[in-house]
Amino acid sequence: MTSRRQFIRIVPLAGAALLSGRAALAADPPMVDEKDAQAAALGYVADAARADKAKFKNFAAGQHCGNCQLFQGKADAAAGPCPLFAGKQVATKGWCSAWAKKA
Ligand code: SF4
Repeated sequence: MTSRRQFIRIVPLAGAALLSGRAALAADPPMVDEKDAQAAALGYVADAARADKAKFKNFAAGQHCGNCQLFQGKADAAAGPCPLFAGKQVATKGWCSAWAKKA
């Protein structure tokens, strides 16, 4: 049986564990690695200036994740989610060959 003294010691620890778990959930997801298989297949680069223009003829100057239809981040954020890379973030100034003009 848990004594009152033990209970008083356990409760703050449980609270701290819950709070740290919440903090971990609130943390930003990791950035997409350009070398990931899907990123490489789509020609994703964290800086649109480095897009492979020879391989991806659809690239045009001015295109970047921040003005892509699929970008789900805030306009003024450095990075945000993209449904093509679930659980990760793309750079706002990044680019991939699936870029589509934001409506
Ligand atoms: Fe960026 Fe759009 Fe490609 Fe997603 S689909 S990585 S937002 S260019």
